[in-house]
Amino acid sequence: MPSTPEERRQELIAVYREMCDSHACPLIGTRTKLVFGAGNANADLMFVGEAPGAEEDRQGLPFVGRAGQLLNQMLGEIGLERGDVFIGNVLKCRPPGNRDPLPEEIEVCKPYLFRQIQLIEPKVICTLGNFSTKLLTGSPMGITKVHGRPQKREVGGTPVTLFPLFHPAAALRTQSVAQLLREDFAKLPALLAEHAPPPDEEEVLDAREAEQLGLFH
Ligand code: URA
Repeated sequence: MPSTPEERRQELIAVYREMCDSHACPLIGTRTKLVFGAGNANADLMFVGEAPGAEEDRQGLPFVGRAGQLLNQMLGEIGLERGDVFIGNVLKCRPPGNRDPLPEEIEVCKPYLFRQIQLIEPKVICTLGNFSTKLLTGSPMGITKVHGRPQKREVGGTPVTLFPLFHPAAALRTQSVAQLLREDFAKLPALLAEHAPPPDEEEVLDAREAEQLGLFH
């Protein structure tokens, strides 16, 4: 697996090019743009939605419509922004009329999502809504039962903590769901802190030395 952020970026670009060249996607004839996913290739936190909507299909970027605005707002409320995280979807192409993804579409797209996860190696993945939650947990349990509770899993051989959340589009439709989504979001900083890498020993020593030398004053 790549070790530097630049290597991760380059490998992700290679996966993107491979998807663009593939003719296996059943939605190739109806999509405008492939929505690969976007954000920080080195992120500790990743979000996985369902599939692009109309605005995402137009722009080729994930979560840029109303659901995306709510996602941005909730990220902001916990001190994060889009550049801190990576955002992708189960399907990379918009199903016509925003219908639910079909099992055969999920099967074709699944290996690409798994490769994104293997390359980014996020510590925590927030699955947004039922489709990504069921796909990544490997369980038929729906989002209403499992939201807000972390689950340790391996995804394509990568150990991750899954943190299922209601889909922001559902939160836009129902106020009580928005409240639950906000409460679950508020748990994220502590969950990320649990998974933060241990401090680099050399950096700690450097900092101690600098302090002793009075360099902090
Ligand atoms: N809903 C999703 O699941 N994904 C997007 O990218 C936008 C809306």
